[in-house]
Amino acid sequence: MTLWARTCTVRQMIDVAELHPGGIDRFETRRPIPRADYDALSRDIIALKKKLNAVILAHNYQVSEIQDVADYVGDSLGLAQQAAKTSAQVIVFCGVHFMAETAKILNPNKIVILPDKDAGCSLETSCPASKLKELQEKNPNFWTIAYINCSAEVKALCDVICTSGNAVKIVNAAPKDKDILFVPDENLGSWVMEQTGRPMTLWRGNCYVHVEWTSSAILRIREDYPGAPVVAHPECTRAVRLLADEVCSTEKMVAYCRNSPAKAIIIATEAGMLHRLKKECPDKTFIPAPTENCRCNECRFMKMNTLEKLYNCMERLEPRVELPPSTISRARISLDRMLEISARA
Ligand code: SF4
Repeated sequence: MTLWARTCTVRQMIDVAELHPGGIDRFETRRPIPRADYDALSRDIIALKKKLNAVILAHNYQVSEIQDVADYVGDSLGLAQQAAKTSAQVIVFCGVHFMAETAKILNPNKIVILPDKDAGCSLETSCPASKLKELQEKNPNFWTIAYINCSAEVKALCDVICTSGNAVKIVNAAPKDKDILFVPDENLGSWVMEQTGRPMTLWRGNCYVHVEWTSSAILRIREDYPGAPVVAHPECTRAVRLLADEVCSTEKMVAYCRNSPAKAIIIATEAGMLHRLKKECPDKTFIPAPTENCRCNECRFMKMNTLEKLYNCMERLEPRVELPPSTISRARISLDRMLEISARA
């Protein structure tokens, strides 16, 4: 732990999250970019987008300047739905690699690019397709539900995909005579088991960011802000979820915060979400739930994408997502099943 991390207070951490005069939100990007450069680059990206007939889709955890030039900002479910219905010829996916793969599965004939091809995910790497296949072969009665945070190969091996926004609905729709295997997030899986009462075998994977929150850190911030509700993502551990007033996906967080009478709300999810919440609910104060170590609420993979890399990938139409046709066609079945169940009343 750094000296600053050991000595900084919750108040100081929140101060870092404020917009610096003349610059952009440094809590999410760290490296100073003069406002004029930021504005010029944003204008160039928007012009390039028109020229390419492109759509920019950005996850809620992206840096603020990327969120600001995107056509759509949302969670994995919203992004998959947008990718499924876009008429754009080029999809620029600002998120991590598995998300861009999902867009490619839904749009095999379109160009899908992403700012940084190395933007991975700890959940994705925790579940190699070969290991999953081995387990499935030993358990032929498994109905495999894969959280969308997994590779295209894993999507191709499972029966249905889910996101944190629709996981309860997807599990409730699973055939009753099957044993459910839930991959790769054990925390989301255990939360869904609590919600549905349906027993499941859980893969032992987790999001390295969301497991950073601890019950003691949440108890401390509650003391600092009495009356502020705690909203946590289901990828958090059970100990943290038990202390939360609301556990939900990032998209549902927006609705919860908008409808809550509270003026200050404590948020336990990746730091990029705060930018979206501040835009959606400008009259409210959002307090990033502290971890035991400073800055652990930033996903290093999500933060690999920058405005400069976004411009470069659009200019070069690289790096592109390419997948074998057989993987696309098999994974498409699981994704379409999710979209169909999700659309049910
Ligand atoms: S926040 Fe966690 S789940 Fe999301 S991309 Fe980063 S490592 Fe993966």
